[in-house]
Amino acid sequence: QARHAHLRVRGLGAGYGAFLVLRGLEFEVRPGLTVILGPNGAGKTTLLRALNGLVQRTGEVLLDDAPLPTRTDAIVRSGVALVAEGRQLFPQMTVLENLELGGWLVPKAERATRLEQVMNDFPKLRERARQLAGTMSGGEQQMVAVARAMMSAPRLLMLDEPSLGLAPRMVDELLAIARRIADAGTTVLMVEQNVKKALAVADRGYVLERGALVASGHAKLLARSSVIREAYLGAQ
Ligand code: ATP
Repeated sequence: QARHAHLRVRGLGAGYGAFLVLRGLEFEVRPGLTVILGPNGAGKTTLLRALNGLVQRTGEVLLDDAPLPTRTDAIVRSGVALVAEGRQLFPQMTVLENLELGGWLVPKAERATRLEQVMNDFPKLRERARQLAGTMSGGEQQMVAVARAMMSAPRLLMLDEPSLGLAPRMVDELLAIARRIADAGTTVLMVEQNVKKALAVADRGYVLERGALVASGHAKLLARSSVIREAYLGAQ
C-alpha cells in the first residue's frame, strides 16, 4: 500500500480576512517524514489549515502533479488527512466508533478490512476498542486521532503538534508512530515544537518564522545548523 505522495507548493499565501499570515511560500513535501518547525505564532497551524481547505489560500498546490482541490471534502477524497491540534475526538464515543467515523469515505465493502489493518497497526487500540475515547490518557487519545486519520488510507498525512502536552515517553511513542507511517508509504508532514526529537525522526525539515520559510534541508543537517541550534536548541 505504498503510495509515496509528493506535494509541491508555489507562492502559497493564507490568512484570516485582511490579515495575511503566510506570503509566497515555496516548498515541497517529498515521500518520507517532513517536519515544520518554528516559534509560536509563526503560522505553522495556518499552513496546515490552508493545505486542508480550512482557511482560504492563494498560490499553487500540486499533489502528485495534480492540483490539490481547495474544498476540504475534495481534499480528503484526493487522499489527504489532517490530525488537527486538539485531536477533536468524540469523547462520549468508544475508540471503535471514533475509528469507524474516520472511515466514512471508505467504500462500505472495504471498511472492515481497513479497520482490521488499523487495529493491526495500533495494537494498543484493539485492546481499548470499547473504551470511551474521553476516558483515555492524552497520549492514547492522540493515538486514536492518528489511527482515525489512517482509516481513510491517506497518501499524505498531516499532523499538527502530535506531541503537544504529552509526557516524554508518549512524545517518543507518537513520533515513532509518525516515522512508522512514513516508512509504510504514507507521506507525512508534521508540525512539531519538540525540535530535537522531531529532527531526530524526520527526513527533512523547514523552519517557519513570521510567515516565511527561513531554513530547510535534511533533518540531520538542520539539527546541526546555526539557525536551529541558536534559536531552538539553546546552542548545545
Ligand atoms: P502555535 O505554535 O502557537 O500554534 P503557529 O505557528 O501554529 O503557532 P498559527 O496558529 O498559524 O501559528 O497563527 C499564525 C498567526 O495567525 C498568529 O498571529 C495568530 O494570532 C493568527 N491567527 C490564527 N488563527 C486565527 C484566526 N482564526 N483569526 C485571526 N487570526 C488568527
